Amino acid sequence: MKTEQATVLLIYTGGTIGMKRNPLTGALESVNFDSLLTYLPELKQFDINIDTCAFNPPVDSSNMTPGLWARIASIIEERYDSYDGFVILHGTDTMSYTASALSFMLGNLSKPVILTGSQLPVGQLRTDGKENLITAIEIAATRRPDGRAMAPEVCVYFNNSLYRGNRTTKRSADQFTAFESFNYPPLAEAGIDIHYHPERILSCDPSRPLRVRYRFDANVIVMSLFPGYSETIARQLFAIPGLKAIVMRTFGSGNAPQNDWLLQSLRQAADRGIVIVNISQCVNGSVEMNRYDPGLSLLRAGVISGRDSTVESAVTKLMLLLGEHNDPDAVRQLMNRSLCGEVTIEP
Ligand code: ASP
Repeated sequence: MKTEQATVLLIYTGGTIGMKRNPLTGALESVNFDSLLTYLPELKQFDINIDTCAFNPPVDSSNMTPGLWARIASIIEERYDSYDGFVILHGTDTMSYTASALSFMLGNLSKPVILTGSQLPVGQLRTDGKENLITAIEIAATRRPDGRAMAPEVCVYFNNSLYRGNRTTKRSADQFTAFESFNYPPLAEAGIDIHYHPERILSCDPSRPLRVRYRFDANVIVMSLFPGYSETIARQLFAIPGLKAIVMRTFGSGNAPQNDWLLQSLRQAADRGIVIVNISQCVNGSVEMNRYDPGLSLLRAGVISGRDSTVESAVTKLMLLLGEHNDPDAVRQLMNRSLCGEVTIEP
């Protein structure tokens, strides 16, 4: 039986993969997409139909914004029916934020959206960019025997591992193992073959139409506690006009100093409708606020558990939920649910 050739849309947003060293300044600068493609003759060898589309000019991912997330999502939305999968070339610096944001934006997703990039530009001899890109395209095109996509999720593919995007964190500024998913195992590993773990991959219903959410509210801060945190600074943070949510990075399994002023300020902020989410400073493991007294006090002060989610996922999920809901209780309820595999919730 002849199967139809798979089609993949490659979206180039920027990042090291498409950079070249400026001989005058020594700094890496973005090149345009056509120059990038000259370094990738391998793309013509694929038995996959690859179309391309590029940000012009390309962006260093430290300049990513919700507006640019919306641009990526609208490209996917407009061309959703024409492709089996999508690969997004993206800088590594904020790739986990974009992957998390897209996972919440692309409701009812039933096709792969794979983000990848590299630590070395694709024009350099030892580049990791070629392998990352070539395997990401292959994954985006892979279907199961029943014709459905093998990995119908927003994923990050990097250095032989396919991860759920909203579980990833950039862990290294200079190694090829730039990403890690500390609280969820890889969805696939690439060696001689690509070995998928279907039981770890989200199931989807292709009969439901893609529903893209575009509204963000960025009135969110990340507050990272440390011994000796200043009361004056904390009180000023809680009083920021327009503040709607705080991702509070706590110790261990979700503990914070049991200072009266801190607990009172948190209670008052929560009563004013500010959503406060407890995320541990440990990259592995989960917040369990009833394990120790200091955690329990936070629970009583109206703080909600972020469980084992990453900061990237908690921030983007809050931005999206606050964009969609005016009611802080609705946001709190949805923060307590797994929308697309971003947190582990025991039944
Ligand atoms: N600054 C670059 C970026 O995130 C780093 C990279 O791509 O690795 O766009």
